[in-house]
Amino acid sequence: SEDGYFNSHFLRKPEERWKNREDHELYCAGHLMEAAVEYYKATGKDKFLKLMQDYADYIYKVFVIEDLAAFKTPGHEEIELALVKLYDVTENKKYLELSKYFIDTRGTIEEPYILEKYNHYNIQDHLPVRQQKTAEGHSVRASYLYSGMADIAVKYNDTELFEACKTIFSNIVNKRMYITGGTGSSHLGEAFTLDYDLPNSKGYAETCAAIALAFFAQRMLLLEKNSVYADTVERVMYNGMLSGISLDGKAFFYENPLEIQPVLNKRNVSTTFTERNPITQRKEVFSCSCCPPNVIRFIGAINGYIYSYEQDILFINQYISSEMLYENIQADMKTDFPSSGNVSIKTKNINQIAIRKPYWCTDVDIKVNGNDAIYTLEKGYMYLGLTETNNTIDIKMDMPVRLVRSNPKVHEDSKKTAVMRGPIVYCAEGIDNDFPLNQILFNEKCEYKVNKSNDLDADILKLRVKIPKESDELYTFKPFEYIDKELTLIPFYCFANRGETEMRVWL
Ligand SMILES: [Zn+2]
Repeated sequence: SEDGYFNSHFLRKPEERWKNREDHELYCAGHLMEAAVEYYKATGKDKFLKLMQDYADYIYKVFVIEDLAAFKTPGHEEIELALVKLYDVTENKKYLELSKYFIDTRGTIEEPYILEKYNHYNIQDHLPVRQQKTAEGHSVRASYLYSGMADIAVKYNDTELFEACKTIFSNIVNKRMYITGGTGSSHLGEAFTLDYDLPNSKGYAETCAAIALAFFAQRMLLLEKNSVYADTVERVMYNGMLSGISLDGKAFFYENPLEIQPVLNKRNVSTTFTERNPITQRKEVFSCSCCPPNVIRFIGAINGYIYSYEQDILFINQYISSEMLYENIQADMKTDFPSSGNVSIKTKNINQIAIRKPYWCTDVDIKVNGNDAIYTLEKGYMYLGLTETNNTIDIKMDMPVRLVRSNPKVHEDSKKTAVMRGPIVYCAEGIDNDFPLNQILFNEKCEYKVNKSNDLDADILKLRVKIPKESDELYTFKPFEYIDKELTLIPFYCFANRGETEMRVWL
């Protein structure tokens, strides 16, 4: 409208503008601003960008100058990080101030809940953000907020805010994150719950929450060169984000549980009651449409996660074939990662390079122009000096199949094993394995084969394992007799692409 407001739903009902904190007006504004910035960067056309600048100016007036809204901070965070992007292309400091205003104000004043059954934790205003120590509430809201906090910490060199981000990030990755990078383990409030509460078949792990965690992690990488951040981006990228889209790109998951038991949806044989369980197959359309476009824009922006360049050091954060040109420096990366850990990088005019050593990598060999390289390892990055103008760096990362155990405090994973190869988390599907997928015994030094599946266009694993011999007894006093079996595992992101079937990550 004339005043800069931009939301077609409320243009029809102007009297409802800025009345209800749950109405997602600022959330939608944030996504529109991000879209306008990216459209401008891709095409150079600024019509949409100008409209969003008008909208941001108007929001600044409503919230900061005239205080006209029925609430002070967004009911669903997102605009905080979007305003920083808008500042980056326009250099208008007002947008940065508005983002900082929303972040600094959250939790400092009494505001309405968004819905009657929610509390302040759900919308992260239970405390001023600088005092928050744990990841709380709606997991998408939360990680968008933390991303905005990290942005503001960078822009204002705000060490207090950075420390809060560090504490929250550590709480997430050490206590509240699935092995897939999914977060928000409960559908109740789509929220973070308690430390180590990571149920598998009831796991929520919204696609948007995984993506939001990658946003948060990538911003933390700007504040501190520590591989844990890029490792987390990688974990999300190849697992909890990618599972959100089908292999043909046409259907999506909103929830990404780590276990599917089709029987759970068939238990109401004698009633019309239904239990709430995650859906077992992806859908083309959801009534709440956040996740599908989030996956698409994340994949579209993946180039931004590969390199960073700071203080004359080129950082290699992700292994993706790509060419990079920045001022007079160049890099050209070739790799079939994550199929193998072999990466070759040609560089020009780069004097120092820092290569991430992933958390799953046991052994790495680096050659510069054919000679063994000497490097120093600092916070998960391998720093190498380069003496020539043009260099070829060959990296060979060991990528064996590795068995993973969770902290015993994660009840649902106790005595269970997950399997990873490189960054890929694997799962077993019933369609590939004609035996029960619980009670599998793994050999610590397991024999395995890596095969290419044309069906799934992915590397699948065949592992020698032991399972209890089949029996007709419901209960028995006899110890199990184990027999050898070949277990087929597929990447987690490939699950539910061949019809409804059992699926387990933790075996
Ligand atoms: Zn979503």
